[in-house]
Amino acid sequence: MAAPLLEVNGVVKRFGGFTALNRVTIQVEAGERFGLIGPNGSGKTTLINCVAGSLYADEGRILFEGRDVTTLPPHRRTRLGIARTFQIPKPFASMTVRENLGIPLEYAGHARASDEDAQVAELLREIGLEAKAHLRPAGLTQIEMRKLELARAMAARPKLLISDEAMAGLSSGEVDDILAILLRLNAQGITIIMIEHIMRAVMRFSQRIVVLDAGERIAEGTPDQIVRNPAVEKAYLGE
Ligand code: ADP
Ligand code: MG
Repeated sequence: MAAPLLEVNGVVKRFGGFTALNRVTIQVEAGERFGLIGPNGSGKTTLINCVAGSLYADEGRILFEGRDVTTLPPHRRTRLGIARTFQIPKPFASMTVRENLGIPLEYAGHARASDEDAQVAELLREIGLEAKAHLRPAGLTQIEMRKLELARAMAARPKLLISDEAMAGLSSGEVDDILAILLRLNAQGITIIMIEHIMRAVMRFSQRIVVLDAGERIAEGTPDQIVRNPAVEKAYLGE
């Protein structure tokens, strides 16, 4: 049997005396649509920071395609196929949308000068931002910013895309728009971890969901199992 695409085994992350992740284990299969939920402060972003490499786990191991990436720097993980969006988008303010996509293409090592323009055009088409290519981020609406953030992650041509609350603050129609993009990317073969507070979206999207609460994994199951799990309800009621 093939190894899972991503294995997080017993990861611990401390900030000083505070334990943000306490021996968290998850496995994500290639091609899966995986939901990661939990109340605010439960450790979701910290976990993906450890997976993508912007933080290093204090204990435990992270394997990607069976390879130990626990101590690899972020750019090496990007090149192996791990990409993530940031909860607070951080595009380069002085660059246009188009220019903002050239940077991650180069970072991921995919851009050759000869076809960088074509690759950027393809990304813009994929995410539906063609008409905004010439704008600076300040000229974008909130959903367009989220799309730019997704396109920046997709520029790395990842195997695994981790979306960190890409739907926060959007209208219900806009949530459906982002959901459709993520479903389309998954249908193209990209494994997706969706971190999301909008339950309707994460329940519709995910084949399997893991729930974190106060740095601990408290539940795993299908969306149906998760909505009926009393421990999950309790965690959210306490929020
Ligand atoms: P979530 O994404 O689930 O809302 P986070 O992973 O952002 O939660 O945060 C988990 C906990 O770790 C929170 O209590 C948060 O305040 C704390 N935390 C996150 N990052 C840091 C940091 N760099 N330094 C100190 N504490 C942090
Ligand atoms: Mg977060």
